[in-house]
Amino acid sequence: MVDVQDLAVVDVHCHPFLDRGEVTTEEFVDLTAFGGGSRSYLEEAGVAFTEEIRAELQRGKRNTLYFRRMVRDLAAFFGVAPDPDAVVAARNAAAAVDYRDYVARLYADAGLTTMVMDFGFPQPGLDLGTVRSQLPVDIVPVYRIEPLIADLLQADVGWGEFARRYDAAIAGALTTGGFKGVKSIIAYRTGLEVSPLSRTPDQGLQALDAVRRGLGGGATKKLRDHLLCRALELCIEHDAPMQIHTGMGDFEVNLPLCRPAFLMDLLRFPAYRGCRVLLVHGGYPYHREAAYMAHVLPRVYCDVSEGIPFAGPGARSIFAEVLEMAPLSKVVYGSDGYTLPEINFTSAKLAKQALGQVLQDLVTGGFLDDAEARDAARMILAENARALYRLD
Ligand SMILES: [Zn+2]
Repeated sequence: MVDVQDLAVVDVHCHPFLDRGEVTTEEFVDLTAFGGGSRSYLEEAGVAFTEEIRAELQRGKRNTLYFRRMVRDLAAFFGVAPDPDAVVAARNAAAAVDYRDYVARLYADAGLTTMVMDFGFPQPGLDLGTVRSQLPVDIVPVYRIEPLIADLLQADVGWGEFARRYDAAIAGALTTGGFKGVKSIIAYRTGLEVSPLSRTPDQGLQALDAVRRGLGGGATKKLRDHLLCRALELCIEHDAPMQIHTGMGDFEVNLPLCRPAFLMDLLRFPAYRGCRVLLVHGGYPYHREAAYMAHVLPRVYCDVSEGIPFAGPGARSIFAEVLEMAPLSKVVYGSDGYTLPEINFTSAKLAKQALGQVLQDLVTGGFLDDAEARDAARMILAENARALYRLD
């Protein structure tokens, strides 16, 4: 295995979180698990949250291989038994003494130095200064367009004012706001099949009018598609990268319409070829499509977040399959961590192990020599993200 343990890590896609104080083991499981259902998910549908269902949800979350692995990583870090109760007791004790110092030791162990954070989740948005004050790593904020769109739909304004406010908010975020990129989760809303012809301003005018009149007929999709095009144009203007969610997400995601391939027509359209675009989550489980797009589209990148760490033992095949087509310079590490610092920690550890194994396979297979494999690890774990976000 190529040794990459000492290398610095930039987490290119994750979400801000604050110190939650002491958590119970059950809360820890709920907060760190990916998906698996929640009390509100069931209660919204009128399903009574019985003791049986509570236990069933916990059992599902504790029995994902990702969760088992996180417990083991934390147990090794604290020198306690690989048991959720022991690990949660140790993290609560460490965090109670000094949360920032605890996170600093955790992230130093994983080599995590920088986190690019989508401030669009959680909502309402967290304060950047407060997040920075609690986390001992560089925080690079990214601005999400969907909360802005929701606000503007609430405002009683016509298309001219809507468009002016939309542009001003994104431009302001990228200039005085300190945001280093823009993010869209249109895959969660109306899907990724966005025609580049949606860029015509008249589509925005027509679609907003239809939305306001409650006419349906795909008006919301037309409006969102137009606004995504506009965001790409603003990213080009401000030389900022655009993150587009692709692939799996929580249960709300439009799974059939989240495939990266749906973005081909948009991203190869002449007006958008200049935009640097990160296909977030590499479209997992369609990550080979994202890797192919990073291969043929000169300014398109793909990350491995969410699949790593939540696909657990899939981390190795994700790296291996993405690297079949994507250049080494266009694959970027990320975790999609949120809620608690332990997710970003275990994800970075898992990624290093999986990447070390995959790079060793490439050395054995005659694709790289040892020095090139180390360089590739440096690029994927940190340097590609630093270049994409112009962090140096
Ligand atoms: Zn995310």
